[in-house]
Amino acid sequence: MTIRALDLAAPAVRSLSPYVPGKPISELEREYGVTDSIKLASNENPLGPGPKALAAIQSAVGDLGLYPDGNGFALKQALMRHHRCPMESIALGNGSNELLVMIAEAFLTPAVSAVYSQYAFAIYAIATHATGAMKRVAPAYPEGHRMALGHDLDAMRDLVDADTRLVFIANPNNPTGTWLEAGPLRRFIESMPPHVLVVVDEAYRQYASVPDYPDVAEWVADMPNLIVSRTFSKAYGLAGLRVGYALSSPEVADVLNRVRQAFNVNSLALAAAEAALGDEAHLARTVELNRAGMAQLQDAFSRLQMRQYPSACNFLLVDCGKPAGPVYEALLRRGVIVRPVGGYGLPNHLRITIGTAEQNERMIAGFRDILQGS
Ligand SMILES: *Cc1c(COP(=O)(O)O)cnc(C)c1O
Repeated sequence: MTIRALDLAAPAVRSLSPYVPGKPISELEREYGVTDSIKLASNENPLGPGPKALAAIQSAVGDLGLYPDGNGFALKQALMRHHRCPMESIALGNGSNELLVMIAEAFLTPAVSAVYSQYAFAIYAIATHATGAMKRVAPAYPEGHRMALGHDLDAMRDLVDADTRLVFIANPNNPTGTWLEAGPLRRFIESMPPHVLVVVDEAYRQYASVPDYPDVAEWVADMPNLIVSRTFSKAYGLAGLRVGYALSSPEVADVLNRVRQAFNVNSLALAAAEAALGDEAHLARTVELNRAGMAQLQDAFSRLQMRQYPSACNFLLVDCGKPAGPVYEALLRRGVIVRPVGGYGLPNHLRITIGTAEQNERMIAGFRDILQGS
């Protein structure tokens, strides 16, 4: 018997294109026969987890035979103290990616729409599409704007109507690196009608040392239509463990907990995240390494006369001025993985994660060789 699984799939699933992640090092080395490669493709922390998280993982290993705490009590207690918010306003996710999917599942149907910006994080489109909801994509700021390719909140507001249930905002945004300031973002959320929830995805907030960057978590208490998502994957260095959280009104958190799977966050992740939250020294090292690395990259790419975009993140978007595919390939052959963003409609661009000084230098040397044709 042959079955045509695709024909059997739900219509929205049939037309779904899966997320394309950064190339893993093991895959590059298998395919290209290179060794000693570096990955600057998925915005991971080059320092990895901090010592406190590693120690917490070690001590949690003994209990791996048991199910995790399905309510994540200890991590929620730590988050509650960190944010001075009620425990009922926290929902935990298997990475913030799962929270974004849970939010879409909980609030979207084929009869309603979600609004997001062109060049916004790809998961918003995928999570929305899977529910069959309508996708309303607002044009981004054009080249020449000081926040070129960034979210244009006025254009987004224009797409909100009676059918809109969700607005997704990444602040700062991946893959552009662009950000929104407190005043405009607050006014945008306040201008939303009561049938619209605004999701502010702050995956990179620890890196965002830019003027007027908002602390949206503090707004949750008096903005019942706001959901903030955070992750331990980026600055906390725990991408492999998969843990993130959302802050919202207790009512919204209750809805999210209805669609959440009982044991969605594993016990090592719960323990590591709780410890990471208390490891300010590791976070400070991470942010300082990134600050120095960002300066290193910005300087190198301006010497190479490549267009680069403002970034409040741990990555930089650059324009190769020609199709980026061959540049990406040539870097792969040198054992350097960066991220093509053709899937975002940016075929000439590459997104490069800030690594250690040595990794950055190796990547920059690769660009220099490739662009100067040696
Ligand atoms: C990386 C990323 C996330 C998701 O990360 P998780 O590992 O699933 O927590 C969410 N939003 C943006 C904008 C990201 O870049």
